[in-house]
Amino acid sequence: MLYGALEAGGTKMVCAVGNENGEILERVSIPTVTPEETLPKLAGFFKGKKIEALGIACFGPIDLNRGSETYGYITTTPKTAWKNCDIVGYMKKELGVPVGFDTDVNGSMLGEASWGCAKGLDTAIYITIGTGIGIGVMANGKLIHGMQHPEGGHIILKSHPEDTYKGHCPYHGTCLEGMANGPAIEDRWGKKGVELADNPKVWEFESYYIAQALVDYIMVLSPQKIILGGGVMHQEHMLPLIHKKTKELLNGYINTREIEQMEEYIVLPSLNDDQGIMGAVKLAMEEVEYEKKNV
Ligand code: ADP
Ligand code: ZN
Repeated sequence: MLYGALEAGGTKMVCAVGNENGEILERVSIPTVTPEETLPKLAGFFKGKKIEALGIACFGPIDLNRGSETYGYITTTPKTAWKNCDIVGYMKKELGVPVGFDTDVNGSMLGEASWGCAKGLDTAIYITIGTGIGIGVMANGKLIHGMQHPEGGHIILKSHPEDTYKGHCPYHGTCLEGMANGPAIEDRWGKKGVELADNPKVWEFESYYIAQALVDYIMVLSPQKIILGGGVMHQEHMLPLIHKKTKELLNGYINTREIEQMEEYIVLPSLNDDQGIMGAVKLAMEEVEYEKKNV
């Protein structure tokens, strides 16, 4: 069986065809411009490819409530051209196949749970630290949507005692995203993260914020695995700092095997940056099952 997969991002759209084993057989990358210009190109890629269904792992916020009139829409995104864009409706109409839909981070979570380092687990989180910060959550084997979907990038944190940066989240200032995403690093230090690899202070602050967030997620969700992805995590030397600070902040309160073995608990993605697109394949597969049960 062939499945279509779309990883919809703010700068590029990755379109792929994969199979039921998550193998990616073909892919292209299309720049994200406006819906008018970009959507027909996406549909054009998938037409004639004999896909059973399409899965879309999408930047957000998006409407995941199947009972809502705007289900399948990108809703209040800061990428204004895409506000109120019915991406699922458009692809369904053009391709005539079931279309699965979830957040980009839930897509990556699903990819890792299906074919990567979270395989066999039922509760785990995937965090991306890039232009934005988002978390995908799987609890008891299901991706969490709830009222909308988790927005774990915007949790409120304590500032580092030596960090006077005011944060740049327009809604919360010093939330996790406001303090620790790629643009916050660049704004605070006047250089991109990639050029700051040798400045220990940068990564001291960065790991301080990430560790605080992880402790909150651990306390609330009790994940069996935490996966850290996104461009900023290419600074892999930060990982041991994150392990150390997370352990310090937990302060002995939780004593599970996972916390003892931090190196295996808080990890980088395991699918060579294909976790998102592979997750989108799985979203397509799951939508076929959903339609069998519900239509
Ligand atoms: P996006 O979030 O836009 O999908 P990325 O996950 O690649 O894409 O995140 C981009 C952000 O990550 C930018 O702010 C960039 O400066 C930062 N970034 C990318 N690579 C690195 C790196 N090697 N070290 C530190 N920061 C990086
Ligand atoms: Zn915020």
